[in-house]
Amino acid sequence: MSTVAAYAAPAAKAPLERTTVERRPVGEFDVLIDIKYAGICHSDIHQARDGWGEGIYPMVPGHEIAGLVSEVGPGVTRFAVGDRVGVGCFVDSCRTCEYCEQGLEQFCVKGMTGTYNALDKNGEPTYGGYSTHIVVDENYTVRIPDALALDVAAPLLCAGITLYSPLRHWNAGPGKKVAILGLGGLGHMGVKIADALGAEVTVLSQSLRKKDDGLRLGADHYYATSDPATFERLASSFDLIVSTVSAPLDMDAFLSLLKTDGVFVNVGAPEEPNSLNMGSLIGGRKTLAGSMIGGIAETQEMLDFCAAHGLGSEIELISADQVNEAYERVVASDVRYRFVIDAATI
Ligand code: NAP
Ligand code: ZN
Ligand code: ZN
Repeated sequence: MSTVAAYAAPAAKAPLERTTVERRPVGEFDVLIDIKYAGICHSDIHQARDGWGEGIYPMVPGHEIAGLVSEVGPGVTRFAVGDRVGVGCFVDSCRTCEYCEQGLEQFCVKGMTGTYNALDKNGEPTYGGYSTHIVVDENYTVRIPDALALDVAAPLLCAGITLYSPLRHWNAGPGKKVAILGLGGLGHMGVKIADALGAEVTVLSQSLRKKDDGLRLGADHYYATSDPATFERLASSFDLIVSTVSAPLDMDAFLSLLKTDGVFVNVGAPEEPNSLNMGSLIGGRKTLAGSMIGGIAETQEMLDFCAAHGLGSEIELISADQVNEAYERVVASDVRYRFVIDAATI
């Protein structure tokens, strides 16, 4: 065991504060990672504030981790000291169920072990990336290509894969009209990745405040959802809409923007339920779907794709003592486009 510095929420809704946590000894298949950067995902805020319930406290959030391997267990074959690595939303799974075998560990029948706010196989709480070090099984660690700087790579471990996976699954590409709903941490990566995949990309944002950014990031079109004319103009126009919105939506209005056989994929995870009129799906044979992060192999594929296309996250680098202020700004949709904690300040 070793004691390491971290930022934790001591209780639900309490501000995060500096503390220490214990990391397990480096086991046979483990790597010890010197964390360099940790992204702030809106899911960190939902959980730190217990918006999804059943939070485990003290909670050290952070599942967008980038760092360097500083020690390896004797059985480790895939990584060596000094390697540039990342850790995303989970650090273990059963490894034997049909989904684990297919590389869909995020849908493990027995439940994947979250990087934080979870209990590991020994019943010990997991602590996330707002910390100086973490010990992770090499099978749940990915390689960050040299072409990506570690700070802009960190958010790819959640925001990047959460958009890459559904965009690939539902075939975003040439000839496809794709809308990204919400231009935040997830959304801005969705714009970059959908554009790199060759799709025609539209941003649907609450206002036109971030229009210049959206177009620079790769969008072809940008509309404000606060303007009722947007819904008239864009009726029946998209093959695929990916919603990253963290609050309930007027689903009937957004489903009306899909073409026949269009798909609306929700990756946003609001704390409140959302209702819709079934007629919004029946007319036009539309699909309402969800998607959650991606498996380990697909996360590596995404990192390699982003490296090949020069796609990092747009970040605001902060020191750890700014984390509570950063949370407020994320909740206010005032982030361009991901806060990343410099772990050296923890
Ligand atoms: P974020 O940076 O806060 O971005 C969310 C964006 O949604 C905002 O920038 C804003 O975009 C829009 N938005 C926020 N409140 C809204 C409202 N009331 N009405 C309409 N639009 C609103 O958050 P994020 O880190 O990208 O995460 C987004 C959501 O995805 C969170 O719920 C998070 O928990 C969830 N998530 C899910 C997965 C998964 O695997 N499915 C993974 C990570 C995160 P505009 O300013 O452009 O309108
Ligand atoms: Zn996340
Ligand atoms: Zn499994």
